[in-house]
Amino acid sequence: MRTSDVFELLRDGRPRTRAQLADASGLARSTIASRIDVLMRMGLVAPYGGGVSTGGRPPSLLALNPQAWVVAGVDIGATHATAALADLSGAILVERRADLDVATGPEHVLGWVEQVLGELLVEQNRTVAELAAIGIGLPGPVEHDTGRAINPPIMPGWHRYDVPARVQRAFAVPVLIDNDVNIMALGEQHAHLPDVDDLVFIKVSTGIGAGLISGGELQRGAQGTAGDLGHVRVARAEDVTCRCGNQGCLEAVAAGPAIAESLRAAGVDVDAGVVALVRAGDPHAVQALRQAGRDLGEVLAVLVNVINPSVIVIGGSLADAGESLLAGIREVVYQRSLPLATEHLRIITSQAGERAGVLGAAALAIGHVLSPDYIEARSLALA
Ligand SMILES: [Zn+2]
Repeated sequence: MRTSDVFELLRDGRPRTRAQLADASGLARSTIASRIDVLMRMGLVAPYGGGVSTGGRPPSLLALNPQAWVVAGVDIGATHATAALADLSGAILVERRADLDVATGPEHVLGWVEQVLGELLVEQNRTVAELAAIGIGLPGPVEHDTGRAINPPIMPGWHRYDVPARVQRAFAVPVLIDNDVNIMALGEQHAHLPDVDDLVFIKVSTGIGAGLISGGELQRGAQGTAGDLGHVRVARAEDVTCRCGNQGCLEAVAAGPAIAESLRAAGVDVDAGVVALVRAGDPHAVQALRQAGRDLGEVLAVLVNVINPSVIVIGGSLADAGESLLAGIREVVYQRSLPLATEHLRIITSQAGERAGVLGAAALAIGHVLSPDYIEARSLALA
């Protein structure tokens, strides 16, 4: 049994004694002692509080030390970016948000990332050596194997740009890249639904996309485009041309710009924004959002029948509009899915809200540096 296997026994954060670790692993006490010694020298495992005394010397407890390293989570959106440092439990230590147009190109945007992460490390009294990894979410399709954005529609200059290599010029650590919806799904799960293994996160804003977590793992598919639901065909969009050039796309009727356009066509002043109109109780806006929910529900019902999630989380800017969108989604999903699939299905609004992305980017980095392969490689380098 490897050092990383012993670490896996402590990864849930619950403290254990050496005797419990020996029992759980089947290893001799002496072997456990040497593996623990390596993990303690790495800083990843530390003595924990005081054990329960059974008379005599209390057994000493060991636990994962979330302060051992920090990771960075970076959420790059179309017009803003957030960078944060988190500990190994995923708790955000410090974060900074800025207006930043992704269309200004990778050199400019990643230059900001480099500068801000350097400043945040100084603020936290952390050295560059204590930074273990960086997770970054990008607002476009990302080829998972290479971490490169491929033909991203709103990101001129980013096509096939080597983001990890650029960031590693400043920080020689693993850099993990994923699309914004995938990291939002990870962030929601990590921070608010840690016991949920099967969830679908839907982002509804300028576009529509989904992050799929199945069996506890993010499902990216062969190239990384799994969950790209915006251009799935729905009945009501049959004669509507989408920005992608096709007709019938979900996005063409149910995303923010389409809803605003339909309200404008009905004579509604949408300058304040669709969400504000719904909150003010504008009947046209409430109705339009409920109908967008039904359109989304049409696609989600298929997804429910295919992958049987236990929770569907609605995030993105339109999720702030509250119940009308959810009501439309529920109406169709419960009607069109198998009763067994919906019996325990919860359809809820994102609790992480606009922090879902940055929480998920940090979770992506943590998942990498606490993975058995990474722990094993670091422990062997130390031996
Ligand atoms: Zn389309």
